[in-house]
Amino acid sequence: MQKGYKLSTALIMFDLKVFFVAMQSAKPVKLNDKQIYRWMETLLKRAKQVGQEGEVPVTAIILDEKGHCIGHGRNKRNKDGDPLGHAELIALRQAAWLKNDWRFNECTLIVTLEPCQMCAGALIQARMGKVVYGAEDLKRGGLGGSIDLSSLKSAHHKMIVKGGILQEEVKKEIENWFSQKRRSKKLMI
Ligand SMILES: [Zn+2]
Repeated sequence: MQKGYKLSTALIMFDLKVFFVAMQSAKPVKLNDKQIYRWMETLLKRAKQVGQEGEVPVTAIILDEKGHCIGHGRNKRNKDGDPLGHAELIALRQAAWLKNDWRFNECTLIVTLEPCQMCAGALIQARMGKVVYGAEDLKRGGLGGSIDLSSLKSAHHKMIVKGGILQEEVKKEIENWFSQKRRSKKLMI
């Protein structure tokens, strides 16, 4: 009886050790420039479709520590009438459901436009390991464009942040979308 108890305690301790070692060693996947640009090109293509559907053209994906996509999102604010319908938050919810965990230390989020303050805050809360974005958002960006929430005292979690991937192409897409919107509004008046 005591032998069995000792064995099961030893097994639990071993499992815990394996779990903690795995937790410590899990890091965001290392992507080379070619891989990052390829993902951004795919996201930009999808963003163009999103724009054609009347939404601000923003798309995002989340990769796990092996580089597998575990979540994707697109801006759906108008479609769903949801102020939280940003691409990053939709991708986060999907990936959290798949992982069955709200912690993302080993994950990478790639998004076409710099996350706004709401999304930057959510990414910090989710302990996202790394964030890669395309164009900087000087008006609403929460990771340096307007304000850098990741460097504030309240940001208990430090993320790796890399911006400027296909910056000009993404910027052009978003600017074109907004100028088209403005033109169609004028036509309606
Ligand atoms: Zn956002």
